Amino acid sequence: MNKLADFDNIISPKNGQNLVIVIDPGHGGSNQGALYDGYIEKEMTLTVALAMRDELLQYEQVEVYLTHETDVDMSIKDRADFAAQKNADFLFCLHFNTSKERNYFGAEVWVPAEGEYYAKGYSFAQIEMQDLTDTGLYSRGIKTRLGDFGKDYYGILRYCTQKSVPSVLIEHCHLDHEKDKGFYQQGDEQLRELGRLDATAVAKYFGLKSERLGVDFSGYAVPKTQVPAQRVAPDRTEPNLCRIETTEIREDTGEITLHMEAEDAESYILYYGCSIDGGKTWLPLEEWPRPHAWNSSLTEYDFTLTVPFDQELLLLARAYNGFDLYTESNSIPLAPIPDPQRLAEEARLAQEEALQERRRAQQDYEEIHYEEQLKEPVSSHVVKDWQIFCVIGLLLLLMLLLSFFMAKMIFLLRRGNKRR
Ligand SMILES: [Zn+2]
Repeated sequence: MNKLADFDNIISPKNGQNLVIVIDPGHGGSNQGALYDGYIEKEMTLTVALAMRDELLQYEQVEVYLTHETDVDMSIKDRADFAAQKNADFLFCLHFNTSKERNYFGAEVWVPAEGEYYAKGYSFAQIEMQDLTDTGLYSRGIKTRLGDFGKDYYGILRYCTQKSVPSVLIEHCHLDHEKDKGFYQQGDEQLRELGRLDATAVAKYFGLKSERLGVDFSGYAVPKTQVPAQRVAPDRTEPNLCRIETTEIREDTGEITLHMEAEDAESYILYYGCSIDGGKTWLPLEEWPRPHAWNSSLTEYDFTLTVPFDQELLLLARAYNGFDLYTESNSIPLAPIPDPQRLAEEARLAQEEALQERRRAQQDYEEIHYEEQLKEPVSSHVVKDWQIFCVIGLLLLLMLLLSFFMAKMIFLLRRGNKRR
């Protein structure tokens, strides 16, 4: 076991005695905790707690107690009293989370705000959070929360500090967010896996050994935390910077790339959110990059949104800090991006219309031409009838003249014959 008694943040077990761990499954009995989609928090925390106990019992020189092992009502104060009665070296309170607007995701560890309890909690929480984020969970951070009287908001942490028992409250993940569902929805075995993860973090923190498991954490380097002179207060102010500008608008895909600046001088940026309708509705929150440390965020980030076509846009963003306080950005009005599919369809229809128009014109021309063709023979026929009529008339006239001429000749010949 760790022999680092000179650091206040690391607990060295009482001489020769077993380490005493108390696990507090959050809620129980009529207090069901978070309820979502058929999941009941009190049942989940009990499953995790039992697995955590079973795993910790694999280590040497450890005693483990649960505040309750069945589904019963138990006050917060009774849980802390129970840990004090057992002379606990540490109490681990287990929970699952939900958020009012169903928009948060990730794991968080709440630690007591005062002195060595803060330092011990914070040192353990760093190991716990590292192990949780190694599974893919998003870190919401290691934090304190103060109530109205400036003391710890969470009763279990407040009572444990009063009873001189170091403690932390672990919110494993959110039951009401798509991004966290993969961490608990595969059945009880997955919950037991979380319990074993919690137990391993405890074993690392206390430098435990297990021959049965074949692990030895006695040389484990526990992160050190300075004991604060005053209560560690959470960040109570919104991020000091949140600004957006568009860097690219793709009319063919409707993708808009935004450059966002966000900063919180006292904590860090945890999430960013976007609205395309000026804040009437918001897209799901996304992770804001913290590549170097969980409590140190980048000040600039570029990301791409896909917006609907043919819609008036008013872009707006929010930057959330580690304590869920947000600042809204400047808004950017954008004219609708015409739908390329609609434009193509309209062009196709226009082309078709033009083609039909041409066809109609052609048809009209052909019809007129045909009528003219029909009219022409009729008129020539009429003309031809007149011609025939004239020719016949002329012939009759000629025949008449010829008849006169013949008659006259006959008459003249007769008279000549008489004279002779
Ligand atoms: Zn809870």
